[in-house]
Amino acid sequence: MKRIGLIGGMSWESSIVYYELLNKRVRGLLGGHHSCKSIMDTVDFDHIVKLQHDDNWEELDVIMVESAKRLEKAGADIIVLCTNTMHLCTPAIKANIKVPFLHIAEATGMEIISKGIKKVALLGTKFTMEKDFYKKVLFNQFGIEVLIPTDEERELVHNIIYGELIQGEIKDKSREVYKTIIGNLEERGAEGVILGCTEIPLLISDTDVNIPTFDTTTLHAVKAIEWALKKD
Ligand code: GLU
Repeated sequence: MKRIGLIGGMSWESSIVYYELLNKRVRGLLGGHHSCKSIMDTVDFDHIVKLQHDDNWEELDVIMVESAKRLEKAGADIIVLCTNTMHLCTPAIKANIKVPFLHIAEATGMEIISKGIKKVALLGTKFTMEKDFYKKVLFNQFGIEVLIPTDEERELVHNIIYGELIQGEIKDKSREVYKTIIGNLEERGAEGVILGCTEIPLLISDTDVNIPTFDTTTLHAVKAIEWALKKD
C-alpha cells in the first residue's frame, strides 16, 4: 500500500470525512485490521478564506505548494487536496512536487462518464462555479457540459457553504434551498449534479433529489485508495 498525503483543514469538517472514508475503504477491501497509510497536513482555514475573498491566489499558491512539499518530504507517495476550490492552485502544486497529484475533478469526471451522463450541474463555492479551473477539466478531458446556478442562486449556495457547512451547521432550511436550486437546474437540462464542495455531501444526498448526485469527497477518496492499492 502506498502512503496518501492529504492537504486538509479546508474545512476540517470535511477532512474528517476524508480520513474516515479512506480508512473504511481500506478496511472494507483488505479486511483484518488494515487501515489507510496516510499523512495529513492541516492548514489554518481562517487565513485561507480571507485570501480567497481578497482574490489573492498568488499567496494561496504559495501556501498550497508549501503544504504539498511538506507532505512529499514526510513520505507521501501521492498528494490529495481535500477541497474542490483550492484545486485552482493545481498548476503551482504540480510544478513543485515530484509525486503524483490526484485531481478531484478528474475523479469526478470519470464517474460521471461511467454513468453515461454528458450534462451536469455544478454546485460549489462561487470560485468553483464561476472560475474555469474546474469546468475546464470536465469539458476538456471528458466532454462534459456543465450548468451553473443563476447569480442569485450562486450567492445562496456560496453563503450556505461558508456561513454554515464549514462551521459544522447542517440546517433543514438550507437543504430545502439546495433542493430547489437543484430542481431548477434539472429543469434546465442537468442529468446529474456535482456536489462540488467537500462539505455539501453533509447536507445533500441522492435521496433528496431526482437526479443522481456526484459526491466529490467520496469519489476523490475512492480514487485515492484505488491508486494506493494498485500494484505497479
Ligand atoms: N471545502 C470546500 C470545497 O470543496 C470549500 C472550502 C474551500 O474554500 O476550500 O470547495
